[in-house]
Amino acid sequence: MLTATLAFQEALHQVIAHAQEKLPVTLHERLARAAALVEAGEVFMDEDGVHAQVRSSDGATWYTPNASCQCKDFQYQAPEGWCAHRLAVALYRRATELMSQSAVAPTDMSPSTFRSPPCPPTRLRASWRLSVAIL
Ligand SMILES: [Zn+2]
Repeated sequence: MLTATLAFQEALHQVIAHAQEKLPVTLHERLARAAALVEAGEVFMDEDGVHAQVRSSDGATWYTPNASCQCKDFQYQAPEGWCAHRLAVALYRRATELMSQSAVAPTDMSPSTFRSPPCPPTRLRASWRLSVAIL
């Protein structure tokens, strides 16, 4: 559905912007690649809603970046194991969560909404840290 897609992309952009603030600069290039993977629709959640698969940018290799990832970057270089695939799944999860949160939130477009957002930034930061800790 078109509306769902737009909402997801909006949520995704928020999550990406937030991740850029929170994650160290060493992860920003991977974050950009992760964002590209999510936007290209290469992240697939399993039916259990817990595990995910990511198709690499060459379109031929599949990764299951859950507790660990099969790529060389994860094994040899990625800071704290955050390869682009694991970041892609984290972004996807957070965007989905954000989307379901905003779906139940009232859509109040009055000026006061912009002065005090329904989700305080501190809470968002805390939940981002939490999801990073879980993964
Ligand atoms: Zn990986």
